Amino acid sequence: MRKRKIEEVSRPQSKSRDFNGKPKSVSLSTIYSHHHVCVEEEKEETKRINYQDRSLEMKSINMLEKPDKCTHSMVIDKFEALTKDAGRIQRETLRRILEENSEAEYLRKLGLNGRTDAESFKSCVPLASHEDLESYIHRIADGDLSPILTGKPITAISLSSGTTQGKPKYVPFNDELVKNTMQIYRTSFAYRNREFPIGHGKALQFIYSSKQFKTKGGLAAGTATTNVYRSSQFKNTMKAIKSQICSPDEVIFGPNFHQSLYCHLLCGLIYKDEVQFVFSTFAHSIVHAFRIFEEVWEELCDDIRYGVLSSRVTDPSIRTAISKILNPNPEIADLLSKKCTGLTNWYGVIPELFPNAKYVYGIMTGSMEPYLKKLRHYAGDLPLLSADYGSSEGWIAANVNPRLPPESATFAVLPDIGYFEFIPLGGYLNDMGLDNTEPEPVGLTEVKVGQEYEILFTNFAGLYRYRLGDVVKVTGFHNSTPELQFMCRKNLLLNINIDKNTEKDLQLAVEAASKILAEEKLEIIDFTSHVDLSADPGRYVVFLELSGDANEEVLSDCCNCLDLSFLDAGYIGSRKVKTIGSLELRILKKGTFQKILDHYLGLGGAFSQYKTPRFVGPTNKTVLQILCSNVIKTYFSTAYDQ
Ligand code: AMP
Repeated sequence: MRKRKIEEVSRPQSKSRDFNGKPKSVSLSTIYSHHHVCVEEEKEETKRINYQDRSLEMKSINMLEKPDKCTHSMVIDKFEALTKDAGRIQRETLRRILEENSEAEYLRKLGLNGRTDAESFKSCVPLASHEDLESYIHRIADGDLSPILTGKPITAISLSSGTTQGKPKYVPFNDELVKNTMQIYRTSFAYRNREFPIGHGKALQFIYSSKQFKTKGGLAAGTATTNVYRSSQFKNTMKAIKSQICSPDEVIFGPNFHQSLYCHLLCGLIYKDEVQFVFSTFAHSIVHAFRIFEEVWEELCDDIRYGVLSSRVTDPSIRTAISKILNPNPEIADLLSKKCTGLTNWYGVIPELFPNAKYVYGIMTGSMEPYLKKLRHYAGDLPLLSADYGSSEGWIAANVNPRLPPESATFAVLPDIGYFEFIPLGGYLNDMGLDNTEPEPVGLTEVKVGQEYEILFTNFAGLYRYRLGDVVKVTGFHNSTPELQFMCRKNLLLNINIDKNTEKDLQLAVEAASKILAEEKLEIIDFTSHVDLSADPGRYVVFLELSGDANEEVLSDCCNCLDLSFLDAGYIGSRKVKTIGSLELRILKKGTFQKILDHYLGLGGAFSQYKTPRFVGPTNKTVLQILCSNVIKTYFSTAYDQ
């Protein structure tokens, strides 16, 4: 019975990865329902931006013939049109945001008096950090229904991952953010699918909801991704972009992350021939999933062999849901087992298990870059495609150049999704020398190629001139909208005196040290940092969790290499004159980063949004305590001793 099912769904297997496979046949009813959903959503979007383009409507008439192709090409056409006129679309978007929210207490207090032009907006409304808005957001969460930040009530609260501060932040959430999310998903899919077409099948998506709870005022609170997964539009969009998830909802919304992960893997294997791509919001979660796969693959094969879910999954709703799709299949179990034992150090496990997968997809930039090496190892010959740029607070930009490797991925800003401003970074020279006062923000179309900026946004969910805290670099323009490269978080700074090292600098130092370890066949599982000011002078501390044991000499070399890899002049100078002490390398017990992850999940975070904190400050006591109590070896750099 089970075998029959697999045969019915299996596709002709093309191992060549030329991505030019013909579309697979689907039933007419699927085409029409799919087509209907897409066209309706498309029309609404078109109305929403008040963009009158008859040619788009004409195109929708042709869609009956080739619905997928036409829908996606319409999305591309719309994005092209929007970005050709980014300046006007920005002014129009700001007008709409300010009109819709003119009654909001926040804007009224600032004396905007219904004005909606950019000049009045900038002169009345100050730049705001999350802290500045916290009291307003808490009143909303506590049930104050008056228009506080937005004209229409905020419908839910998102919890940002909070890995920077050590605790999740409350962020307003409403339907506009759901719409924006769908718009971003569909935009980047249209461009991705043009270059890397997929067939009709499924997506192995490692996605997880967080715990949801009600705020004092009765609003649902969970991570932004959870709020999106629970929205009615999510499934329709997944269908429209051929990304239907292998796992049943019970797995996504399961109460225990470890059990959900196991079941995502199992569902992927059940639908192994249908899987068109593998996804997670952030790439480390795919790496984590396959590290776990290495440990549990035999158990997964047994589940498939006997058609019985492992007793490690105890949640009754997940067990019931999985029992509906899991049937005994010894042949598939044997095949999988053969494939797994035939691999060398799990190289290429993803295409081996999922022979019709076309790519691996997820955010691979910024703090995800350190996981790329391992991801490439698991992905073998499959391309890695980097996903879009956004945050719990709102979306910013889509990856419309999917062929760029993750290391150079760029994101084109969607000019109708919010109003964007950019603060140039780096200080600038005037007659008196280097001026470190903060320059005025510039508009979306005024940014300069090659310049780094802190990004600000104003959106439809009650954030005005909001400092997200990210640093981006403009690498070029897509029509008239900028293409951004994500650089780092602005506030992740290792800083003792005149030194300044960002998340990116730390990443580069760790990458240099990883080369020494690679010669010993060792990997860095994860890393973070701290500034130890308990002694004088203070010092940088780097924590590493390794895949195995290294000898003393190798680790001492790593420690010196880390120290020498911070190239900031302030650091080098301070190290030379010993106003910064020797860098300290602390090696952690295996499983320490798993404990940190569990700690964040316990605070209400979801694995989908989790990012290992790259810097742990003194106020983040629990994480610091987990790190310090799991240190097995300590080394001090001698790099600047002579
Ligand atoms: P959260 O609000 O928890 O979802 O985290 C949002 C943050 O994740 C952003 O402010 C960025 O720092 C980071 N982020 C989101 N998308 C990307 C991306 N494509 N590349 C690098 N970092 C990203």
